[in-house]
Amino acid sequence: MHGLMMDLPLNISSLIRHADRYHGDTEIVSRTVEGGLHRYDYAAAHRRSRQLANALVALGVAPSQRVGTLAWNGHRHFEIYYAVSGMGAVCHTINPRLFPEQITYIVNHAEDSYVFFDLTFLPLVEKLAPHCPAVRGWVAMTDKAHMPDSSLDLLCYEDLVNAHSDRFDWPELDERSASSLCYTSGTTGNPKGVLYSHRSTILHAYGSCLPDALNLSARDVVLPVVPMFHVNAWGLPYSAPLAGAKLVFPGAQLDGASLMELFEQEQVSCSAGVPTIWLGLLQHVRSNALQFSSLKRTVIGGSACPPAMIRTFEDDYGVQVLHAWGMTEMSPLGTVNTFKSRHFAWSREQREALQNKQGRAIFGVDMKIVDDQGNELPRDGKAFGDLLVRGPWICSEYYRSEGGDPLRDGWFPTGDVATLDQDGFMHITDRSKDVIKSGGEWISSIDLENTAVAHPAVAEAAVVGVAHPKWDERPLLVVVRKPGETLTREELLKFFEGRVAKWWIPDDVVFVDSLPHTATGKLLKTRLREEYKDHRLPTA
Ligand code: ADP
Repeated sequence: MHGLMMDLPLNISSLIRHADRYHGDTEIVSRTVEGGLHRYDYAAAHRRSRQLANALVALGVAPSQRVGTLAWNGHRHFEIYYAVSGMGAVCHTINPRLFPEQITYIVNHAEDSYVFFDLTFLPLVEKLAPHCPAVRGWVAMTDKAHMPDSSLDLLCYEDLVNAHSDRFDWPELDERSASSLCYTSGTTGNPKGVLYSHRSTILHAYGSCLPDALNLSARDVVLPVVPMFHVNAWGLPYSAPLAGAKLVFPGAQLDGASLMELFEQEQVSCSAGVPTIWLGLLQHVRSNALQFSSLKRTVIGGSACPPAMIRTFEDDYGVQVLHAWGMTEMSPLGTVNTFKSRHFAWSREQREALQNKQGRAIFGVDMKIVDDQGNELPRDGKAFGDLLVRGPWICSEYYRSEGGDPLRDGWFPTGDVATLDQDGFMHITDRSKDVIKSGGEWISSIDLENTAVAHPAVAEAAVVGVAHPKWDERPLLVVVRKPGETLTREELLKFFEGRVAKWWIPDDVVFVDSLPHTATGKLLKTRLREEYKDHRLPTA
C-alpha cells in the first residue's frame, strides 16, 4: 500500500521560488569583477534567472545539455545555477585554477554547449576556444559597456538577459534527473565528473541546514569563500535560499583585507572555506589588531583544519569553528564537528582533542571503516581503516562511467583512512596514499603537520614519506617559516618530543619559501613526493 501524500518531485527551481516568495527582499550582495558592489534581493535574482532561462531556450539549450561556467562567486553565477538547472539542463562549474589542458579535457568530456565566464578568464577562454570545437558560444558575464575586445565572437550576458521576458514556468522535472556537474581535481589521472541530481541537491541542502550541521537560518548572513566552482560552494547557493539567509559573494578578491572589509560591512554571521584561505585572513586580522563584530561561526574543511587555527578563531576572536569533512563525490558534506551535551562537562584538553576530529555524520550519510579484506572495524576511536560511505547525495558512478564501477558492495570508498569513535566522531588519519608506512606500521602525515603548525614560528607544513633502507619509509617534514622567523631544524624536531610517539618524529626537516597546492587549495603531496624522492635522510 502506498502512502497517500503528494508526490511532488524535489526540484532545484523550488528553492529560488521559495526564497522569492518568503524572503523576496532578503539581499544578495556581490563584489563584482568590474569593480564595486552589486546589491539586489531574492525576488530580483529569481526574476533574472527566469529571463536567463528564456535566453537559454532561445540559444537552443535543450534539457540535459551541459552549460559550463568559469566564474567567481557572484550574483550572475548564482542566476546561472538556477536558470540552467531549473530549465532542465546541467550546470557544469569548471575550476579555472586547473591547468588549461585539464580544462580543455573537462569541457570536451562534458560536451559543454555554452560556457559562461567572468572577464578575469578571457585570456583563458581565448586559449581554450580553439580546442573546444563543440562549444557553440562563449558568454562574457558582464554588460555591454564592459564587453572586452576579443578574437572570439563573444555573447554578452546582460544583453541575453535583457532581451527576454521574465515569464517562465519552471518545468516539473523527474527529481532523479541530472542538475549539475563538477569534476574532481584529479591529482592523478584525468579529472572525473560527479553528476548531481535535483533530488541529491535538495536533500543535501536540507541536511546541511540542520542545527548540528551548518545551522543556517533566515537570521544568517552567509559569505561563501569556498568557490562556486568547488563542489557548488559546499552547497551554500542552495542551502542559503532554502533557509532564507542573506548571501554575500566575494568575487575574485579572496585576500584577508578584502574579505574582512566585506565581513564587517555586510555583518556576515557565517562563512565557509578551506584552511589556506583562513591563514591569510587571520594574518590580516592579527597584524591590524582587528576583531570580528558579527561573525559567529565558520565552516573549515577541504583539508584538515590545524588545531592551532581552531584555537585562534575560538579563543582570540570568539568565532566557533565547524570543522567539516566531505568530498566532491559527496556533494560534499559528510561530517561536521559539533559537541553533544555531555562533552561540555569534559576537560578543556579532552574537548580540544575531540574538536580536532572531522566530526559526526549528518543524517543522510552512513559511514564505516574496514580493513584490507573489507571486514568492518570496531567503532572504538582506535582502530583505523578505509572509510566507506553511502547515502542519497553520494556518487554511485562517475559521468560517462569513467573509471568503471567505483563502489564496493554498495559503499563508496573515500580514499581516506580514519577512526570512528563510540559517539560517531570520525577522525581522518590520512589519505590512503599519503599515509607513511614505516616498518609495517602507519604514521599519520596529518598529525605530524598539525604538530608542526602548532609551533609559533611555522606558517605551513607538509609531511611526505621518503624511502628508507631499513624502515621502508620515514617522514620528511617540509616547512614554511613565518616571516622574520629563524627557527632551526633541531629546534623544530625538539618541539615534537612528547607531542607525538617517538618513532613518529620526522627524520629530517627542509625549509622552503612556499608549498605547492592543488587547484582546490590542498597540499600537492604528489609534487612534494616527486621533488623529495631522492632526499637522503640523515638516518638512512
Ligand atoms: P573537496 O572538493 O570538497 O575538497 P575533494 O573531492 O577535492 O573534495 O577532496 C576530498 C578529500 O579532501 C577528502 O577525501 C579528504 O581526504 C580531504 N578532506 C576534506 N575535508 C577534510 C578535513 N576536514 N580533514 C581532512 N581531510 C579533509
